[in-house]
Amino acid sequence: MTDFKFQLNEFHRNTSEEEMLADVRRVAVKLNKDSVTYDEYGEHGKYHQTTLTRKLGSWFNILKKAGLKINRSPMNVPDEELFKNLEEVWIKLGRQPSYDEFKKPFSRYSVDTYARRFGGWRGALEKFISYINVDRDDEENENNSVEERTSIDNTSGQVFRHKTKREISDRLRFRILMRDGFACKKCGRSPIKQRDVELHVDHIVPWSKGGETLPENLETKCSRCNLGKGNAFNE
Ligand SMILES: [Zn+2]
Repeated sequence: MTDFKFQLNEFHRNTSEEEMLADVRRVAVKLNKDSVTYDEYGEHGKYHQTTLTRKLGSWFNILKKAGLKINRSPMNVPDEELFKNLEEVWIKLGRQPSYDEFKKPFSRYSVDTYARRFGGWRGALEKFISYINVDRDDEENENNSVEERTSIDNTSGQVFRHKTKREISDRLRFRILMRDGFACKKCGRSPIKQRDVELHVDHIVPWSKGGETLPENLETKCSRCNLGKGNAFNE
């Protein structure tokens, strides 16, 4: 995603909370409404919506803080939440979901919500792939606290200072699953063939033993192979 808004987003990294909320209120006044939807803000706002949600949390929270009316419509679900849901469905199926199967109980949001937001289902899938491919991990790791990057081995008492934090981002997890073809690296099972196979992405060298949260130290495992592994080095 190298579009204009992404650039703006970077540029506005240090904008204060008050400036952001003031801009949401400005859009409400401009539209002569007591609430602003996520999409309306996208169209009229000065900042990218994700700049706001990254700093202030959910869109509902932003409306509350801005003193505007809270409207729990699917139109207010942030892009990131829609991408997360799409990612979950994709992982459950082990492949790209089709228009027809994208519904409850698989998906929490209707295919129409995606189509409206992203200009068609195809557009939604394309935006999702761009979202997944933007590598923010380096930037995110820079913001991690020392505590988030420190681990102590329970057995040896050795302290590790990591470059990365333990948590695997949604983006990175999805990229590893794609790389591994949505199949367990140990037994080869995949939800593509068996609907009940649940996949996880796990550290090869456990983080608590000094392993980093980087692609070369991550692999796909099914829940059965992953179970009871704990921090054992040799499985
Ligand atoms: Zn397995």
